[in-house]
Amino acid sequence: MQTEITRIDERWAWADHGMCRDVPDLFYNAEDESKSLRRRKEAAAKKLCFQCPVLAECASHAEANRELYGVWGGMTEAERHRQAGRARTG
Ligand code: SF4
Repeated sequence: MQTEITRIDERWAWADHGMCRDVPDLFYNAEDESKSLRRRKEAAAKKLCFQCPVLAECASHAEANRELYGVWGGMTEAERHRQAGRARTG
């Protein structure tokens, strides 16, 4: 069991260096947010992503794990869905 926990921690080690660590609400949208607020939040989140030292790792993780929600690796939900050729769910 200990080995399994270690593997999970290692897989997420890059996340400890993410610039979103202290502002997670900026990276996810609430259902009742307006489209204009969503756009402003996404733009601010992407700005942080493009200064982030683990952008490449984060983007790879999001693509490999088909993350559905939030901004990951400098891409919004809609951008990731378009890139993957799938319909947006939220
Ligand atoms: S690239 Fe963006 S979403 Fe990914 S860890 Fe960095 S700040 Fe967070």
